[in-house]
Amino acid sequence: MSSTKARYAVRFASKLNILLPRVTNSSLQLPATVKLSKSSFHGHSISKAPNKGLKPPEHLEDLVQTDHLIIGGGVVGLAAGYKLTQAKKKLGLNNDTIVLIERNHRVGDETSARNSEVIHAGIYYPSGSLKEKLCIDGRKQLYEYCKAKGINHSNIGKWIVAQTETSQVEYLHKLKNKADVLGVPAEFISVQEANLQEPNVKASVVLESTSTGIIDSASFLKSLEWEFSSLSNHHLVVNSSATNVIKSPFGQCYLVQIEPTMQEAGNDSAYWIQTRTIINAAGLGADHLANMINLVNGLPATSPNFKYHFCKGDYFSYSGLAPARRLVYPVPDANLTSLGLHLTLDLSGSAKFGPDVEFLDNVTYPNFDYSVQSSRRSRFFEAASSYLHNIDAERLNPDYSGIRPKLSRDKASDFVLQASGGQAINLVGIESPGLTSSLAIGDWVVSQLY
Ligand SMILES: Cc1cc2nc3c(=O)[nH]c(=O)nc-3n(C[C@H](O)[C@H](O)[C@H](O)COP(=O)(O)OP(=O)(O)OC[C@H]3O[C@@H](n4cnc5c(N)ncnc54)[C@H](O)[C@@H]3O)c2cc1C
Repeated sequence: MSSTKARYAVRFASKLNILLPRVTNSSLQLPATVKLSKSSFHGHSISKAPNKGLKPPEHLEDLVQTDHLIIGGGVVGLAAGYKLTQAKKKLGLNNDTIVLIERNHRVGDETSARNSEVIHAGIYYPSGSLKEKLCIDGRKQLYEYCKAKGINHSNIGKWIVAQTETSQVEYLHKLKNKADVLGVPAEFISVQEANLQEPNVKASVVLESTSTGIIDSASFLKSLEWEFSSLSNHHLVVNSSATNVIKSPFGQCYLVQIEPTMQEAGNDSAYWIQTRTIINAAGLGADHLANMINLVNGLPATSPNFKYHFCKGDYFSYSGLAPARRLVYPVPDANLTSLGLHLTLDLSGSAKFGPDVEFLDNVTYPNFDYSVQSSRRSRFFEAASSYLHNIDAERLNPDYSGIRPKLSRDKASDFVLQASGGQAINLVGIESPGLTSSLAIGDWVVSQLY
């Protein structure tokens, strides 16, 4: 470890003892120089203007310092934290400090808790894309991780089903060729065999993806959180939003302004944290932070200015016996806005349908309405009935929803993994298959920092 890094570690460790107890609830005490009065603090979230009135401290001693700051405690931020933990142990860099900031009162409460929990095979995405590469790598790692750590999962398999339309049948043949090229198992099943195995499935062609599975994502996140917290100089700080980023006047570092997300007794003050590197894993808020970070690094003219198109996906649960014993997907939209309103099972065997596609207008992160309207039942009934027999509309019940951070409304976008200024990492547009790809994204982060 360099002497500069050692200084950060020592400084931060001593400050943390006072300032950042290893928290899952934030009860930060702040240096006197950065305290704000209650009346001057209005920030509840990144969507509000950052508190520009908060001046950075004039003395290095007054700053909380760290080597790495991860912003966002979803599956991507936690996987990056886990992979950094592994890399540090391997390289003997145990003194490097990492702070993970999460705006909610616990990790994994946003998109990572609002998805299909499917371990995707990785065959749908454009050839050579990051989604394809990271999904295939991430899927293999995820199965290994689940086995090694005892995370509940099942390699249940999935059928992608075409109806009689030529375009659908052709799509499945192309998909099969692609899977063969990628070395991902996918086999056609005869209609007779399909009828025997799954009498409720309607299809003229069935492609089976045997490497697809399902996972208890909450247990996966808990496990990553536990692994991250296994080193004493790793700190998880909740109820805290990163709201501003500037260059530090004290060397090749950033200053990041942190504001409490919820006012609590003894926790109403913002403060600055100095960090050598930033990992922006802020999920639905990552576009805004990435623009801020790129501006600080002098990149606005050359780099894209990110702006998410938020795209909601609702789920309806299906009460009673599941209509099939495996996942069943229709042929997806041409532009892959969604993989199609599919039948998913959870690990207890309960069935649900979703997600549908609804672009949200005039909403800003994190002010979303996640409720699911029962008026959508007929739409779900129609979609499910297009590939399943005997669907009973009365058994469809509004369940939950998730929101996709889309970089485009009308064409498929790839993940954007950006290392800006050498010290700042932006993970933008991490929509599906982000859960499956998370461990591989974590590897990419490590490759940029160590
Ligand atoms: C409907 C739907 C279905 C999906 N199905 C699947 C699937 O079956 N399989 C699959 O592989 N993928 C799936 N995905 C994708 C997957 O869920 C996401 O890619 C993944 O959860 C994204 O994780 P994340 O950590 O980037 O985001 P999040 O889980 O949203 O985490 C980001 C975190 O950052 C925090 N944060 C934001 N801004 C700040 C800030 N300024 N300061 C501090 N903290 C901040 C948030 O509170 C949040 O906890 C699906 C997604 C959706 C929407």
